[in-house]
Amino acid sequence: MNVLIVEDEKSLANEIAIFLKRENFLCDMAYNGAEASEKIAVNLYDFVLLDLGLPDYDGLDLIREAKKNNADVSFIIITARGAVEDRIKGLDLGADDYLPKPFALPELHARIMAVARRKFSIPSPDITLGEFVMIMAGRKLMHDNHEVEMTKKEFDLLFYLAINRNKVLTRHQLYEHIWGNMLDDQYDSNFIDVHIKNIRKKLNVRAPAPWLETVRGVGYRISTDY
Ligand code: CA
Repeated sequence: MNVLIVEDEKSLANEIAIFLKRENFLCDMAYNGAEASEKIAVNLYDFVLLDLGLPDYDGLDLIREAKKNNADVSFIIITARGAVEDRIKGLDLGADDYLPKPFALPELHARIMAVARRKFSIPSPDITLGEFVMIMAGRKLMHDNHEVEMTKKEFDLLFYLAINRNKVLTRHQLYEHIWGNMLDDQYDSNFIDVHIKNIRKKLNVRAPAPWLETVRGVGYRISTDY
C-alpha cells in the first residue's frame, strides 16, 4: 500500500516516512499543496496523510479536487488546527479520519490500518487463498505448515491482490501501489508478469493456485471462487 505524506514540516514528514516504511508502506512526500495536488492527479495512492496547515494551499481543497476527479484515495487529516469546524469540514468532504497533532506514530499506524480495513475489507488476522494462508503477523505465506519462501515484493504483490480480491487490477495499478510512481521510460509492461510468474512457480511447487487469475488484456485478479 502506498501513502503520500503532505506535510510542510520536513522533519515530521521524514519521521513519518521512516516509521511507515518500516511498517512496509511505500511513502511519497509533498512539502506543499501545489506539489501534493500534482502528485495526487497523476499517481495512484491508497492513502494521503494530509496536513491542513500548508503554506500555499488550503488542505481541504486537496480533498475537494481529489473527490471531483473521483480519485480512489483515502485521506487522513493530520493537523494542529484544533478547530472543530475544520475537522467537520474535512470529514464532510470525505476524509476518512482525523488525527490531531501531536500524535504518536503507532497511533497513526493504527488509524491507517483501521481505514485500510474499511477500504479493502481486509479479513483479519489471516487471509485464506485456496489451500494457502497469508499470515499477516510475520508476513508469511503458508501451505500445510510449510512456509512458501517469497521476496518482500512478491508478498506485497500477493497481499495487494488479496485485499482487492475479486477485482481486476491492471499492471499499471499493481506497479504504482507496490513499486511506486511510474516513470514512463522506466516502465516495462512485462515487469509485473515476471513477478507473477515467479509467484506462481513458488505456489505450484506446493499446490495448484487457480485463484490467482490472469485476466487477458487487463491484468490480474485473486478470485474467491476457489
Ligand atoms: Ca503545517
